[in-house]
Amino acid sequence: MSISREEILMNRQIEYPLTPDLEANLETLLTAVNKLRALYNQPMYVSSGYRPGHFNTDAGGAQNSPHKTCQAVDFHEADGKLKAWITVDILEECGLWQEDPKSTVTWLHVDIRPRANRIFFP
Ligand SMILES: [Zn+2]
Repeated sequence: MSISREEILMNRQIEYPLTPDLEANLETLLTAVNKLRALYNQPMYVSSGYRPGHFNTDAGGAQNSPHKTCQAVDFHEADGKLKAWITVDILEECGLWQEDPKSTVTWLHVDIRPRANRIFFP
């Protein structure tokens, strides 16, 4: 099962329609996370995707959060299996960056915003 645009948008595009730039980000993000999903080959559940405007504020997100621009996804991670499996090589292969796992205890945050290190601190 692929990760769908509906899972990432969470119907929030109704209140905050996607601009062409956001559409392009979403396409890139879907390609990257579905590469990850195919390599992992186990179910992955989106806990947070597109967070425009008040959705990001309500979630306590950073002001420049990549969730606001369709560049990030969080996956439920209660048991730590996904974090135990994922590596810098896998992130590189998928074109993803991961937030420091110690800062994301019950979820895994990955995004497509390039940074110096594949695993970054918030
Ligand atoms: Zn996140």
